[in-house]
Amino acid sequence: IIKIKNVNKSYGDVQVLKNIDLEVYNGEVLVLLGPSGSGKSTLLKIINGLENIQTGEVLINEEVYNCKNGVAVSGKKRAEVGMVFQQYNLYPHMTVLDNVTLAVRKVKKKTKEDAMAIAIPILRKVGLEEKIHFYPSQLSGGEQQRVAIVRSLAMQPKVMLFDEPTSALDVELINEVLDTLIQLSKDGMTMVVVTHELSFARRVATRVAFLDKGELIEIGKPHDIIMHPKMERTKLFMNKIH
Ligand code: ATP
Ligand code: MG
Repeated sequence: IIKIKNVNKSYGDVQVLKNIDLEVYNGEVLVLLGPSGSGKSTLLKIINGLENIQTGEVLINEEVYNCKNGVAVSGKKRAEVGMVFQQYNLYPHMTVLDNVTLAVRKVKKKTKEDAMAIAIPILRKVGLEEKIHFYPSQLSGGEQQRVAIVRSLAMQPKVMLFDEPTSALDVELINEVLDTLIQLSKDGMTMVVVTHELSFARRVATRVAFLDKGELIEIGKPHDIIMHPKMERTKLFMNKIH
């Protein structure tokens, strides 16, 4: 569903992604691992069209989303790729329901009623139905992150990207967010997830990719990449984080 072809990305003179070729299949959960600064977040932003690239292209369902001439799609199309960050970035002065339905109304031009008809079943599914009139400050970190996930899902994306969705959370709240991701994958959502949660990667990922210094070093089954990597750089990284 996602094709990344020969992508190079530089900030000024610094090359942060080098000849990245990567395909993400429909319904798969691809986990991206790699040291700090290896280019994981940059790669997600490129898929999502938040960053431009110097060479290559990104296709989603064979449509060009991003290429060296710039991001190639409109706001409405771009909503087909949802992205959830480490920081939830909810509007503090808006209720859960308003946070979740805002983009649906503004970008997709749905009525309030239609937006609610889309959002409420998803909120129910992640166990937030009781909280729809709460403000972000009245929610736990895990709940806020689930609201941020629902906000993306309400745009009915074809693909969801997650950038360390649990790293701002206390340990006891991590699992409630990971459970939401597991549920999503069971529903068949295609996901690319940057995370340091190796147990999640081993349980849920269809494949794991290892990035280092802007290069895609190795990609394969979770067990192979995490437990029996072939490349020296992957071995070093796994030894450090185990
Ligand atoms: P982390 O695990 O710490 O989140 P990462 O793998 O997500 O790291 P990126 O955020 O993609 O790494 O950054 C890759 C490289 O690009 C880093 O060297 C970073 O300093 C650089 N970089 C990222 N964003 C910018 C920017 N807007 N301007 C200049 N350099 C940037
Ligand atoms: Mg990052």
